[in-house]
Amino acid sequence: MPTRLVLPPSAFYNMFQSAVEVFPRESDGYSFLNPQGRDLVVVRACPIQTSKRGFGQVDFGNKAAMHRLTEFERAVSMNGHAGLIRGGYHSHTVKESVSELSLGDLKFIRDELAKRENLDYWVELIITLKERFYSTPSSPTARTWQSKNKLQAIVRPQANWGYRASIGAYVVDREEHIRELKVITNGKP
Ligand SMILES: [Zn+2]
Repeated sequence: MPTRLVLPPSAFYNMFQSAVEVFPRESDGYSFLNPQGRDLVVVRACPIQTSKRGFGQVDFGNKAAMHRLTEFERAVSMNGHAGLIRGGYHSHTVKESVSELSLGDLKFIRDELAKRENLDYWVELIITLKERFYSTPSSPTARTWQSKNKLQAIVRPQANWGYRASIGAYVVDREEHIRELKVITNGKP
């Protein structure tokens, strides 16, 4: 089983952008991961545009759209992407939220695993995104750092205002054993 999740700047950007776009509603998407020894490297993080986005939850909003995505993936996976592990990501945006799996998240993962017999486990990334107001002004900045198993980030577009994010990742197997991965990055956001 993997122990670390590597989130390259490109995938970090995709996830962060989709979370910021619909903020303060929640965003979700699929992630595709490449196993490299004990690491899982996020190759892609693709938002699902038709999701029903709420405050405190996000669900697939359109059955026909999800069917089209499944068909699309089946065709593309013939081109050598079959080795990539499927997973997901979503944002948590309510004030007291943390980057941990909720009961609703576990139900979602159970459903996704049920659809895919070839997967031994599901990997879900959670980006907890909150607004922050700062008394000390600064020029626009974006930076990440490590704190225990989470990747932390500040993206500050304005002198006194920005986003604070914490990114966690979990592996859930078919028996619903949950293991947290250490999320790291390998470049500047
Ligand atoms: Zn959640």
